[in-house]
Amino acid sequence: MRTPAGIGASWRREMERQAEKLFHCVHCGFCLPVCPTYLRLGDEADSPRGRLHLMRAVVEGRLGTDSGSFQEHLDLCLGCRACESVCPSGVEYGRLLEGARQAAASARPPSFLARLLARVMATPALAVPLLGAARLLRATGLPDLLARRLPAEGRWGVVRLGLGMLAATAPPDLSPGETLYGSSRPPSCEGSGTGPGPGEGGIGQGRRVALFRGCVQNGLLGHVNRATRRVLEANGFEVVEVPGQGCCGAIHAHMGDLAGARGLARRNLEAFDGAGLALGGATGAGWGAALPQHAHWWDGGGPRGGARGGGGGGGLGERARRFSERVRDVSEVLAETGLRRGGSLPLSVTYDAPCHLLHAQGIAWEPLRLLGSIPDLDLVPLPGAEECCGGAGLYALTHPDMGRRIGEDKARAVLETGAAVVATGNPGCMMQIGAWLRMTEARVAVAHPVELLDESYRRGGIYGG
Ligand code: SF4
Ligand code: SF4
Repeated sequence: MRTPAGIGASWRREMERQAEKLFHCVHCGFCLPVCPTYLRLGDEADSPRGRLHLMRAVVEGRLGTDSGSFQEHLDLCLGCRACESVCPSGVEYGRLLEGARQAAASARPPSFLARLLARVMATPALAVPLLGAARLLRATGLPDLLARRLPAEGRWGVVRLGLGMLAATAPPDLSPGETLYGSSRPPSCEGSGTGPGPGEGGIGQGRRVALFRGCVQNGLLGHVNRATRRVLEANGFEVVEVPGQGCCGAIHAHMGDLAGARGLARRNLEAFDGAGLALGGATGAGWGAALPQHAHWWDGGGPRGGARGGGGGGGLGERARRFSERVRDVSEVLAETGLRRGGSLPLSVTYDAPCHLLHAQGIAWEPLRLLGSIPDLDLVPLPGAEECCGGAGLYALTHPDMGRRIGEDKARAVLETGAAVVATGNPGCMMQIGAWLRMTEARVAVAHPVELLDESYRRGGIYGG
């Protein structure tokens, strides 16, 4: 393999490691029907197979990293990794994409908006006051109003989407009332909680878990973190705070800034390592996928088989591997040991699978088991639940046309189910789906699955009071 000058060393290592799989891609095309960009554009270059072909051309020196086709088609990829889930040859597309984006970014920097948002999220002194101001703006109700009223076209389209995303971070209205139930509380909602509570030998008894709070989620979706803490404690877990944690670096990795991602990973590694915890729980699929990547970002190895990787060297990579072996999505933590039963929650709910939970981590059933444990909850299948919603980190904002096409399709699919609530376990998905539901004038609540369990526990009297 001849490697052109200027290509990142980490990508070169990754491509060499992957060469067998990359170069033996059998061109079967199994990945084409699951690729959101190929499905909408019908262009081979915007398919996984086409993008792999472009990567190979760069690695073999037939194409420059600054070439229009390499830049454009890699840039339009959502990074959803749906192609990885169906590939019979085991091509680890997500890792190759990260490296390819690093190479692409070295030739042509990402957009100003992407770099600005990544910088803000990585800097608590900027992110905390900014997200605080965003919460104040959200409380005025203006973002919700303007998201429904502003024109969809032109430059207003992105402003409208941003406001819709902000409005979508408000706590969902799951209380009995006009939105979901008509005007009266269903009689079956009164307490029916069973099983042990904190300190009573619950399923998580003796297990300590630290919540990874996320940056956007902590700033705008703190209600999800609070619900997660209550639910874990109700199931007997000891939840501990880890000071010093911060942005997971996923946004940086997605835009090709692997050095930035490594810096943020190191900060989290030191924070969680020092805490000596048995388990780190992630409530967002994006960082749940990013945290186990820490080892890979240092030495090209990963902690687990399949989508979560294998092998690797020592040093920081070894510490990162030990850390990433302890990371679990909160739905895994709760579903693997059984769940305490809450009160009746007679809602019709549909579930959309976050790509970084389903395709990057292979977690399909746990969130459904969690929802299925809620008495009287009517779980309605969502056609295309395994397809990306178009949020994809900053994608919806930096690729407004494609983000809109995918977001509108997702909102339409949700509406067609007739569900009152769409549940999904990632802040980016909650914001994108919530925004497009608002912009189509739909009154469908968006909630993290744990929030529904939390509401069921509240109605079941598990929290007392
Ligand atoms: S599914 Fe895998 S082997 Fe088949 S074309 Fe896509 S990348 Fe190649
Ligand atoms: S990551 Fe998603 S958008 Fe990108 S090639 Fe794979 S399926 Fe297509």
